[in-house]
Amino acid sequence: MKTIAERVTDIEVKLAEACRRAGRLPEEITILAATKTRTIPEIIEAVAAGITHVGENYVQELVAKKEQVDAAGYPDIRWHAIGHLQRNKVRFLTPFCTLIHSVDSLRLAQEIEKRAAQVDRVQPVLLEVNVSGEASKFGGAPAQVVELATQLTELAHVELQGLMTMAPYSDDPEASRPHFQALRHLAEELVESGLPAPAMRHLSMGMSGDYEVAVEEGATIIRLGTALFGPRTQ
Ligand SMILES: *Cc1c(COP(=O)(O)O)cnc(C)c1O
Repeated sequence: MKTIAERVTDIEVKLAEACRRAGRLPEEITILAATKTRTIPEIIEAVAAGITHVGENYVQELVAKKEQVDAAGYPDIRWHAIGHLQRNKVRFLTPFCTLIHSVDSLRLAQEIEKRAAQVDRVQPVLLEVNVSGEASKFGGAPAQVVELATQLTELAHVELQGLMTMAPYSDDPEASRPHFQALRHLAEELVESGLPAPAMRHLSMGMSGDYEVAVEEGATIIRLGTALFGPRTQ
């Protein structure tokens, strides 16, 4: 079994190669550790190996893990919410969350607006897009996302920073490419139709099986679980 530090090195090599193929710089891409089912010692091992951004799917887990990682002496780690988000959980995130990746409705955005205002913060968010149209996937349909992006610009305590997607599961990384291209094209269309470019500066796409393809297609945030921590047992 490789150590987490060895896995980080492997990822950095592959990331650099994908960047070279795409004419990009590794500095443009944030590696986000996806920590669902992972323990605090595993997360701390990743952080000690240089990971600075962590993402959790479940809000209670996110808050508990943040507290424990803070207490272990890493208060500067950035915490992202990457899972489907219920409105009644938003208030636990708005005091500290670096980026909420999974906004898919105006009602959710309005709750974020309300809770962020209460703690006098502006909450960065991404719109989750269901580019594949798979029924099992969360996220708005592309047409709905165009409307949502415009509506979000009205909210003073919500800052739209881009789009996120999950490609359908496949053993073949190339199967994800059209979905990643679709996400990038949607971001480009939004900017062409008048949305300020900073509102589309992030594309959160690519997981352990397809992050190199995602980087080739313009990802700025890749979300890695198994590539970083090894296979999930749960
Ligand atoms: C689990 C998860 C990941 C990481 O998945 P791996 O295939 O283990 O890299 C990324 N994003 C989200 C939203 C996840 O739930």
